[in-house]
Amino acid sequence: MKDLYLFNTLGRKIEKFTPISENIVKIYCCGPTVYNYAHIGNLRTYFFEDILKRILIYNGYKVYHVVNITDVGHLVSDADEGEDKMEKGAKREGKTVWEIAEYYTEAFKKDLHELNILYPDVWCKATDNIKEQIELIQCLEKKGFTYITSDGVYYDTSKFKNYGKLALLDIEGLEEGKRITFSEEKKNKTDFALWKFSPKNVKRQMEWDSPWGKGFPGWHIECSAMSMKYLGETFDIHCGGVDHIPIHHTNEIAQSEGCTGKQFVRYWLHGEFLIQEKGKMAKSAGEFLTLPVLLEKGYSGLDYRYFMMMTHYRKKLKFSFKALDSAKRGFNNLKDEIIKLKDSISYSKDSNIVINTSRLNFWKDKFIENINDDLNVTGGLGVLWDMLKDNSLNPKEKLSLVYDFDNVFGLKLKEVEREEIPDEILKLVEKRKAAKLNKQWKEADEIREEIRKKGFELLDHKNGETEIKKIK
Ligand code: AMP
Ligand code: ZN
Repeated sequence: MKDLYLFNTLGRKIEKFTPISENIVKIYCCGPTVYNYAHIGNLRTYFFEDILKRILIYNGYKVYHVVNITDVGHLVSDADEGEDKMEKGAKREGKTVWEIAEYYTEAFKKDLHELNILYPDVWCKATDNIKEQIELIQCLEKKGFTYITSDGVYYDTSKFKNYGKLALLDIEGLEEGKRITFSEEKKNKTDFALWKFSPKNVKRQMEWDSPWGKGFPGWHIECSAMSMKYLGETFDIHCGGVDHIPIHHTNEIAQSEGCTGKQFVRYWLHGEFLIQEKGKMAKSAGEFLTLPVLLEKGYSGLDYRYFMMMTHYRKKLKFSFKALDSAKRGFNNLKDEIIKLKDSISYSKDSNIVINTSRLNFWKDKFIENINDDLNVTGGLGVLWDMLKDNSLNPKEKLSLVYDFDNVFGLKLKEVEREEIPDEILKLVEKRKAAKLNKQWKEADEIREEIRKKGFELLDHKNGETEIKKIK
């Protein structure tokens, strides 16, 4: 097994990866809050996690992957105040919160499928794990980490040693009223709710009995409870977007380590944001792009995947349709290369082409060198293009490397086929050929235009042949 290096947010440096158990890597990724569609920024985070998973598998590890579905209890602000996102979504659409959760969970899974993102081994819903969350809060209560206010059970962050260690938080320097507001009854600015009481005189759609009163879990407790339930008290990798570093993941560490007294997670990996030309892409900002919108505009999920692959996961990525078009062109060129390779193999009379293993290994090593350097899949893509230009490789060797690398890219390159040309188009091409022979140039041009409208373009080659290409 080759060495794999990952950037660990905990400590802010690249580290050699070693799993707790020899062959199985346990990963937890924070999933969606299902009160709306995921936007294409959210999807960038799930894409980066997919690349991580595929690279681990490529390196010979088995991966056990858990993703949660947040279907309860997130409040609109970071400060455990304001409206509940789920109830807000339900009100907007005139549905129950349960219907909203179900609908957007399915929409989310569909998006992942379009992007060829591998599903996790376990999807776990917050509402299916209320008991585990209550037990974790009880554990924290027993160890003296909690206090009760008029609106809930809170975590006293001053009791947890090294509370800001992941985010390198400057606790003293946190400015009140900025990102974290300081409600009257909170003892410290960074304290957060573990359990919120249902407001008096208001019937919430989602609420549960607890030792502290009827209510619902706080923002962060579900991820601590469910990750430890499925992966153990200490596991290998925890991921999410960079916005989770200062609050959500910092609080997860405080909850889990406060209860168990053990290290919670060994490697914390965070993906940078996708931004729009206008700035941040956020669901709360109202206007955001979703994958179905891209599909409607004629892009495929894999076009968007290729676009995301052009930038390292720890760099900000600016989205624009111009950049997406350029990525799509690159992806189409790659598919054309693959079709040419397939054609040359099927036309080749010599079916027993000798495979040059040392040259194959040379390229494979180069590929691994890139992807194992903190998930540099962009570099891996560069290796693919360089390899395609290597004249010392025959088409069969090239294709075998393309398929091998695609286990990491996930671009479904094996399925790339020359487009079937419908009979209707073939007939029109024949008609145009006849018109040209009769020097009926105007008619020939009109037929070409008709063919173009039906989605195909004609390329007349110097040898007199006409190539038919589907317009992508
Ligand atoms: P949410 O559904 O808001 O909890 O977000 C789901 C995931 O998307 C989390 O891991 C976030 O960190 C991540 N995320 C949110 N906004 C963006 C963005 N603009 N670009 C990349 N990832 C994001
Ligand atoms: Zn989480």
